[in-house]
Amino acid sequence: MPVSNTLIADLTWYDFAEKVKANPIVFLPIGSVEQHGPHLPLSTDILLPQAIAAEVAERVGGLVAPPVAYGYKSQPKSGGGNHFPGTLSLDAGVLIGLVRNVVNELVRHGVRRIVLFDGHMENQWFLVEAADLALRDQAMLGRSDVKIIKLGYWEFITKTTEKVLFPDGFPSWELEHAAVMETSVMLHIRPDLVRSELIPDGPAADFPPYDIYPFDTRPIPPTGVLSSAGSASAEKGAAVLAQVVPDIADALIKAFDAPTA
Ligand SMILES: [Zn+2]
Repeated sequence: MPVSNTLIADLTWYDFAEKVKANPIVFLPIGSVEQHGPHLPLSTDILLPQAIAAEVAERVGGLVAPPVAYGYKSQPKSGGGNHFPGTLSLDAGVLIGLVRNVVNELVRHGVRRIVLFDGHMENQWFLVEAADLALRDQAMLGRSDVKIIKLGYWEFITKTTEKVLFPDGFPSWELEHAAVMETSVMLHIRPDLVRSELIPDGPAADFPPYDIYPFDTRPIPPTGVLSSAGSASAEKGAAVLAQVVPDIADALIKAFDAPTA
């Protein structure tokens, strides 16, 4: 296997020190260890942002940090719920502290442009908090030249790509858990990990407009898949990457170049 030029974990400290001098964009994929139905591995939310971040990093001369593998607790309406076997989640404070700590460590070694590259919807607000607290830490050290961008790669999927993925109508990104998009991209990047014969084709879950704690598990499909994955294909996965990778790269270059108000 060739040594990667973009994965920080594959670099020596000499390589890292040299590359940081060029002020690269550094991607921190943040995932979850979460059930993704009978057909996808527990690592789906780690593998997808890692693979997409690596392709974007190639385009922008960036680096990808080792991912934060664990994420915030799976919720019924977006991940099936935290009760599924193998779903290993963090308390919010731990996730916030972990991401804040890693960001501060990157900055300590000279990184100034950081992307919190989310692969798991439930992480979102805790990444906002981690970014806010890390910037506060840096401000207290007198440093004001750090910029952090937080994104969920699925937010970049355009209407045109949405039509390729869902010719019969788009459910919602929440209900897309382990369904057409994630299954398709996994079929494209890691077909060896997809149990194709087990891809579920059930109806979309129907949730009430409120949340109950402890979870009411009755509306959650027993497979953990929130809408049909039946029409997933490697071709659809390739189409998603072909569109989002250049779009994320362009957006990041613009956003990092723009002056901070
Ligand atoms: Zn997922």
